[in-house]
Amino acid sequence: MNINNIYIQDISALCGKTLNINILRADTLDPVVSGNKWFKLQLYVKDAIDNGKTTVATFGGPYSNHIVATSKYGAIMGLKTVGFIRGEKPTNLSPTLTDAIQNGMTLHFVSREDFDQKEKIIANNENPNWAWIPEGGYGVKGADGAKSMLSIKDTSSYDTIICAVGTGTMMAGLIKAAMQHQKIIGISVLKNNISIDTAIKKLLTDEEVNKSFEIIHDYHFGGYAKHTPALIHFMNDCYSNMEVPLDFVYTAKLLYGAFDLASKGKFNPSSKILVIHSGGLQGNRSFKKGTLIF
Ligand SMILES: *Cc1c(COP(=O)(O)O)cnc(C)c1O
Repeated sequence: MNINNIYIQDISALCGKTLNINILRADTLDPVVSGNKWFKLQLYVKDAIDNGKTTVATFGGPYSNHIVATSKYGAIMGLKTVGFIRGEKPTNLSPTLTDAIQNGMTLHFVSREDFDQKEKIIANNENPNWAWIPEGGYGVKGADGAKSMLSIKDTSSYDTIICAVGTGTMMAGLIKAAMQHQKIIGISVLKNNISIDTAIKKLLTDEEVNKSFEIIHDYHFGGYAKHTPALIHFMNDCYSNMEVPLDFVYTAKLLYGAFDLASKGKFNPSSKILVIHSGGLQGNRSFKKGTLIF
């Protein structure tokens, strides 16, 4: 993992150069601990080590970028890792879970009903040597870690910063880091996830809540991890035109949304826009071979 691998790419050509739009390629950090996940894990892992824990335990679905990132980063930092996975154990494990096991993670499969009761899981598995990381790294520590995504490169000249929103932890971090002239726009990848607004505000101080930000709910493509032929086509286009690989759960919807908003006149023509490539490319392995050109 080397944050010097992260760079800013000009993708103005993808919208016919009508706008000044760049992308922060945080996907290049590492193929597994990619994009925002490494940033969100920083303080949880540091705290676990500082408190003498041997193990970090967390939660996620069978394709979770957070699970596989925790498995690898935990191992690198000398911690054991445990993942509580949503749903019964399938006959064939997803590539994500296979990787997690290879990285040394112990997996426990829990029914969807039980998965929704995280406190119960934590209580039933109490262990003084374990530190728990919330699902998706959601929490103030996750957001504080994500803050530094805006300081790897000089991002002060951008007035609009656009990111994908799952749990909203990264977006909260970007809001915390934003300068006075900057607005953070989040593209929600879940359908009708109106409560995300509250979830993000919970991670902000009274002062930070008054900063400029907006969540947009129009680009979920049917819901979490749902996709359409148009979205796949868009992903292949972005790759063939600019060699920007996107994942179908988060960053494809993010970029599609950003360009669609641009075409609808959402941004001032003199705006300088930065889109955050938050990684997640490992999830594309769930596609049939040949669906994507990259
Ligand atoms: C997890 C993830 C997100 C969502 O981050 P949140 O902090 O949960 O909103 C966005 N993009 C990618 C690629 C991710 O893996």
